[in-house]
Amino acid sequence: MKILANDGIAPIGKENLEKARFQVITETVAQEDLVNAINENGYIGLLVRSATTVRKDLIDSCPGLKLIGRGGVGMDNIDVEYARSKDIKVINTPAASSQSVAEQVMAHLFGAARFIYDSNRKMPISGVSDFKKLKKKYGKGVELRGATIGIIGFGRIGQSLASYALGCGMNVIAYDPFVPNATVKIKVANQTVKVDIYTTSLDDLLTRADFISMHMPMLFDGNALIGNDEFAKMKDGVIIANASRGGVINEDALIANLDSGKVAHAALDVFTNEPTPREDLLKHAKISLTPHTGAATAEAQDRIGEELASQIINHFNTITA
Ligand code: NAD
Repeated sequence: MKILANDGIAPIGKENLEKARFQVITETVAQEDLVNAINENGYIGLLVRSATTVRKDLIDSCPGLKLIGRGGVGMDNIDVEYARSKDIKVINTPAASSQSVAEQVMAHLFGAARFIYDSNRKMPISGVSDFKKLKKKYGKGVELRGATIGIIGFGRIGQSLASYALGCGMNVIAYDPFVPNATVKIKVANQTVKVDIYTTSLDDLLTRADFISMHMPMLFDGNALIGNDEFAKMKDGVIIANASRGGVINEDALIANLDSGKVAHAALDVFTNEPTPREDLLKHAKISLTPHTGAATAEAQDRIGEELASQIINHFNTITA
């Protein structure tokens, strides 16, 4: 049984599949050549991350395809319901990358609180000529310990972020219309501390948080949850991070509120127009940036590969048993 891992798969995932007698091909086939490649090579499984899209026309054109796997969480690049209606198994790896995304958000927040991202841009250019000027410019940092972080979307990543924030001595508040409360576990020096967090209203979070981090899916109507009205409710000098999906914060409103000083810094791992985000966001002096790499750690990729392999093996064992 042949599987095409079009956006790659961690070696451990490939190895586990091969031990179970699957043949795994990791070459990247261009989107427009995928249908031919799948049909000509008799691939029964197609594994993707976010780069390859699997739409209705591809599904209709590849009758031999039995499984589509998404390494990661968001399945917006796959027509999931349509594939399932054609008896194609669709799987993803929702838990594998939560910790990596949470760690990246903490890195952004620490970096923003101390201007590290901007300092790294300016020091190579004018660190020699303008050292004192830069020292003054970046000399108004804030601490995370004791500050309040508001987490919007209290699922896997939101709760993982809460564990890091609590571990750093931050106060955590959260908003999630579908999660009334959650117990967050923090492992410290071989002990596990459990903290119960009861979610609050969006308005309460917006008015109380010093830091805000987005960890929800896109709204069904595609609109942003955070726009000018929501920014107006936030504390002056708030720091806001988004590592969920580009559209959950209105990017025009974000730029306007950064320019007015209402928002001190933003941290973005995701953008509305990926893979061609707006240049005014990328060049903004108050935005810490990463190119959608929240889940891009060796550990997360290994967990994703292992989880995909075990789900594929279980699935084909079950249907052939
Ligand atoms: P999850 O499903 O575990 O959690 C999402 C939470 O959002 C759920 O608890 C849900 O109830 C809540 N939610 C839904 N609608 C909401 C709303 N209108 N307001 C507030 N909360 C709402 O998902 P997750 O694994 O925690 O992932 C969260 C987001 O992160 C997703 O958008 C996912 O695509 C994204 N993500 C990004 C990266 C990255 O590389 N940056 C990696 C993985 C996931």
